[in-house]
Amino acid sequence: MDTETRTWNHALLQTHFLPQDKQNILRIPILRQPAEDKRIWGRDKSGLYSVKSTYKALRASKEAEMGEIYTPINWERIWKLQIPPKVKVFAWRWIRNIIPTGANILKRTTKGCDECPFCGQEETQNHLFQDCSWVRRVWCPSSLKLCFQKGKDLTCEEWMVALQETETESDEQIVLFLAALWFIWGERNSQCWNKKKLEEFKIMGKAERWLDEYLEYQQKGSETAPRHVARWKPPDIAAFKINVDAATFAGAGTGLGIVVRDRNEGFCCAAVRRTRIQWPAELAELQAIKFGLEIAMEKGFVPGEMDSDCLRAVQQIEKEEMSMLEEGVGSAEVREMIDNFDGSMEIRFEGRESNKAAHTMAHIQRGWDETELWASRPPIFLVDQLILDSCNISH
Ligand SMILES: [Zn+2]
Repeated sequence: MDTETRTWNHALLQTHFLPQDKQNILRIPILRQPAEDKRIWGRDKSGLYSVKSTYKALRASKEAEMGEIYTPINWERIWKLQIPPKVKVFAWRWIRNIIPTGANILKRTTKGCDECPFCGQEETQNHLFQDCSWVRRVWCPSSLKLCFQKGKDLTCEEWMVALQETETESDEQIVLFLAALWFIWGERNSQCWNKKKLEEFKIMGKAERWLDEYLEYQQKGSETAPRHVARWKPPDIAAFKINVDAATFAGAGTGLGIVVRDRNEGFCCAAVRRTRIQWPAELAELQAIKFGLEIAMEKGFVPGEMDSDCLRAVQQIEKEEMSMLEEGVGSAEVREMIDNFDGSMEIRFEGRESNKAAHTMAHIQRGWDETELWASRPPIFLVDQLILDSCNISH
């Protein structure tokens, strides 16, 4: 550039640059008054670099290229992490912003209240995991403080991208981070429903120990593979556990049974429905799951955990949720359920031994196509099984 005339020096450009580059340089306007050079980040109006604008730019260019919605999340890396599958599913829900927070429930069902029980502000995912004064007291004393700060003003998805793209976060750190989210969610539910209070600064320590135990167990398991005795367990993170089961009777329809208990093994409700329709076993179980979800929604037993002893039915649901790809048997039912519940219920497979109460309910002979419900007090024929389940818990 000729600093006297404040124009580009054509001769110099000619010797040093290719014709195309020269053209581009000539298009750059020159300021009338000299000013100091500085870097400007063109992706953001402010000219300042931010993770958020990088994320947006990356997303926009990929979408233009691929002609579809693109998320720069490295899912592959998340699925490979050494962490219980339920935490991965939780992470997936968190990134997609479908954790059943007050605001999300209100958005979906137009029922309920979106106020944060700790501070009264709107309970969005961002509020719950970042902004609430309660959650700040959880993050700040922990080793994850920096991970927490990285998420400032970002959406959940952007936050995850920021953690993944910086490369400074090892897999162990991300595992711990996701476990922390899971514990924050569980601890909030537990404090809201049970009024049990764990001091904020202890929560991360609890998550770390839980993770250590899991990893230790994984290692031991691969060495000695101990025989796992299935027993009924109270919900480990949600407020309620719903056991569901189906019984198919040759020529006499299908029985659907459910039992709801809380974290203190307390009985909440049991229900049975007998239909004339003869479902194949797997479909019958999907019906039982659906029945359980209906009762849960109606009676307000969400967020909760649901146990079924039919692996195929549970796999089917997981498959629908995770990939939305294959059309399977009963997938319409499954999709409907998931649409209605939006991730506020975790459905899991547990062995038959742990599901005997629901099994008992499903085998009760009742009127056709009517739902019979026992709330607060269990039916007489169920009492023995409830006591047995409670005795089996190792405290
Ligand atoms: Zn709050």
